[in-house]
Amino acid sequence: MVKARKWVVKKHFDGVPKLSDFEIVEYELPPLKDGEVLLKTEWVSVDPYLRAYNKNIPVPYDQFSFQVGVVKETKNPKFPVGTKVVTHKGWCDYVIDNETSPEVGHFPKALTYKLPDLQGLSPSLGVGAVGMPGVTAYFGFLELCQPKAGETVVVTGAAGAVGSLVGQIAKIKGCRVIGFAGSDEKCQWLEKELGFDKALNYKKVDAQTALKAATPKGVDCYFDNVGGELSSTIISQMNTRGRVAVCGSISAYNEKEVPKASILQPSLVFKELTIEGFNVYRWVDRWTEGFTQLVAWIKGGQLKPTEHVTEGFDKLYDAFVGMLAGENTGKAVVKV
Ligand code: NDP
Repeated sequence: MVKARKWVVKKHFDGVPKLSDFEIVEYELPPLKDGEVLLKTEWVSVDPYLRAYNKNIPVPYDQFSFQVGVVKETKNPKFPVGTKVVTHKGWCDYVIDNETSPEVGHFPKALTYKLPDLQGLSPSLGVGAVGMPGVTAYFGFLELCQPKAGETVVVTGAAGAVGSLVGQIAKIKGCRVIGFAGSDEKCQWLEKELGFDKALNYKKVDAQTALKAATPKGVDCYFDNVGGELSSTIISQMNTRGRVAVCGSISAYNEKEVPKASILQPSLVFKELTIEGFNVYRWVDRWTEGFTQLVAWIKGGQLKPTEHVTEGFDKLYDAFVGMLAGENTGKAVVKV
C-alpha cells in the first residue's frame, strides 16, 4: 500500500484564499487496476484558474491543477515505469491515474499525456512554457490576434506565465510590444531580459497617458490577461480593425462581484474592433503542434521560459496565494 497526501478545498474562497479553506488529507492508495499507473508527482502548477473556478464547484473537492509526474508502478503498457507524464490530478504527492480519469470542473476527461520531448530542458516546463500556459499564449495570441510584422501589441499580466510568452512571441513575429506589469522590477526584466519595447507599471502610471506615449501608432492587438478598467483604457486606444484576445480577468478573481469598467461599445463600433474570448482547450487537438514550436523557439534562444520555483508539497498554498498577489515573475511552479 502506498500512502499519499492531497490538498482538499473545504470551503469556497471569500476574497483571497485562506490556508483554513484547505486541508491536507493522508490516505492509502488501493492496488492498481488494469489501465492504471501510480504516479509520483515532481512538479505542480499553481494557476489563476484554480481561484476563478472555485465558486462553480461544490465543496469539498480535491484541489485540481496540472502536474508533471513519473510512473512508479504500471498496469498500462503505454506508460512503462519511469515515463514522465503531464496530468491534471492536482495537489497530491502520489496518485493513481489513467488516460480517462473523470475531472472536476470544466476540464476534458483525457488529460494524461506523455511529457513532450523537451530536448533536455527542465521537465517543469511541461506545466509551463511547454504546457497549458504555453499553448494558451501560442494559440490564443496567434489565432485570435493574427499579428503582422510592424504592428503594435499590448499585453497585460506581461510578467506572468502566459503574458511573458505572448510578448516574446509577438517579438518573434516582428511586432512592437508594450507590456503592463505590477512592479518596476518586473518592468525592467521585461525590457532588459525579454526584449519588450516598453513595460509599464500599472500600479504607478496613468495608463491612458503612458500608453499613448508608448504607442505613437496606436494599438493593433491586445492580449488581455487582467480585464477591468485597465483593459477598457487599452481597448479605447486601439486602431481600426484592432483585435483583442480575452484570455483572463485576474483583476476580478478575488472579487465577489465582477467590478464595473468603462463602457466599450463606442470604440467597438467606430474602430470596428474584434474582441474574442477563448478557452485553450479549443485547440487541445493541436497542442502538440504548439509544444513542438515552443520547444524549437526555446532551444533556438528566441524564447526564454522563466520560472518562479517554490520548494515543498507543504508550500503549495503559499505558492498559490503568492502567485495571485504577483510574487511570481514567469511561471509559478512547485517542486514536490
Ligand atoms: P500569471 O503567471 O500571470 O500570474 C498571475 C499574475 O496576475 C500575477 O503575477 C500578478 O502580476 C497579476 N495580477 C494579480 N492581480 C492582479 C490585478 N488585480 N490586476 C492585474 N494583474 C494582477 O498567471 P497565468 O499566466 O497563468 O495566467 C494569466 C491569465 O491568463 C489569467 O487571467 C488566467 O486566468 C488566464 N488564463 C486563461 C486561459 C484560457 O484558456 N483562457 C489559460 C491559462 C490562463 P502583477 O505583479 O503584474 O500584478
